[in-house]
Amino acid sequence: MACQQFDTVADHLQMSESERPRLKYPKRSVIVSLPINCEDGSTKVYTGFRVQHHLTLGPTKGGLRFHPDVTLGEVAALAMWMSWKCALTGLPYGGAKGGIACDPHRMMPREVERLTRRYTQEMIPFIGPQIDVMAPDMGTNEQVMAWFMDTYSMYRGGAVPEIVTGKPVELGGTLGRREATGRGVAFLVARALERLGVKAGGATAIVQGYGNVGAIAAREMVSRGLKIIGVSDHTAAFHDPAGLDLDALDAHAAKTGALRGFSSEALADPAGLLTLKCDVLVPAAVERVIDARNAGELKCRVLAEGANGPTTPEADLVLERRGGDVFVIPDILCNAGGVIVSYFEWVQDLQQYYWGEAEVNERLYKALDRSLGLVEARARKDGVSNRTAAMAIGVERVRKAVGLRGLFP
Ligand code: NAD
Repeated sequence: MACQQFDTVADHLQMSESERPRLKYPKRSVIVSLPINCEDGSTKVYTGFRVQHHLTLGPTKGGLRFHPDVTLGEVAALAMWMSWKCALTGLPYGGAKGGIACDPHRMMPREVERLTRRYTQEMIPFIGPQIDVMAPDMGTNEQVMAWFMDTYSMYRGGAVPEIVTGKPVELGGTLGRREATGRGVAFLVARALERLGVKAGGATAIVQGYGNVGAIAAREMVSRGLKIIGVSDHTAAFHDPAGLDLDALDAHAAKTGALRGFSSEALADPAGLLTLKCDVLVPAAVERVIDARNAGELKCRVLAEGANGPTTPEADLVLERRGGDVFVIPDILCNAGGVIVSYFEWVQDLQQYYWGEAEVNERLYKALDRSLGLVEARARKDGVSNRTAAMAIGVERVRKAVGLRGLFP
């Protein structure tokens, strides 16, 4: 999917065949075996991955995902998207992504800690604050980042907070990082509604995936006046046209660890949730949930891609054929809040000088607004979709930098 999107953009930019491979193929792909002692006395070997897409503009940057379906191909695609995202938003990074094929929900916390530490240790030859900096993604959180930072720091012999972002604030994390991705999604949703002349007050939203991105995007949209009428996670989906009670949902999720069992009246079909009528649809879970089969059925005005890669290229064609009745905020823009504030965290760690949350948010919104403006202007100028426009800006920036640096030796 990532390669297909790249080819579409490369065609649009009239890039020669000989120029494409340098931008397409990852700089470095690492696979590691991770043996750990389990709590039941057995030993289990997990497989971990890290792909660094390009190092032309600075260190690579990207999340670490713990999920049973993680593969090298998925991680490589996510790394490539990170490159275009960082370039689009003007960050001095290349893209990267990492992952371990595991199910953290079925593991004991001490096993997750051992796995994280072993992974970090295996990555030491390939990472560093000026080489590759990780962050949370699906299935990982601040605690995982804390173990990561501790393992790397023990190896270096002193605290190195700038090796990872999305850490707890107590360890050099930045204020506003946990909320940044969801906050950015809600900010861009509000901008998109403005463009469409739809009032945010009373507009309805459905969110797929109730984790870091989805749950915070839902909260932030509510604070902007929207009503959340549908949510889902990997265990259940709920729909209530009168609006769901997020406090009750959060309390249930905190107590049971998931949404299952929240309500029997509001129970909904998880796949059907995406095609219910709403003003804003936020896929914030996994890839490829909007495809050729359901793209024609979407009834939202705004598709805000909180997740990475939720829409397949075939679905993009369907949406384009619909004549632009759905305003798409493409993933590399929509969820860029996370990496933007990760960049702020890295800068603060390098300088050992920390900002207040208002300053973080103000700079975040400014960066997103600027990027949205660029995407809209490019889409208008070139007569292309928002996704192609966003990717064209990102790819072009990297292409230019690669050209200027030349080829060593
Ligand atoms: P998370 O693990 O905190 O939450 C993921 C949520 O999705 C959970 O509620 C899970 O139950 C749910 N889920 C999983 N499979 C599902 C399915 N098939 N149907 C419905 N729900 C499902 O992860 P996150 O950090 O919120 O990441 C979500 C997405 O956002 C990923 O695509 C990730 O790459 C992307 N993203 C995250 C960040 C970040 O800062 N965390 C930044 C940019 C992009």
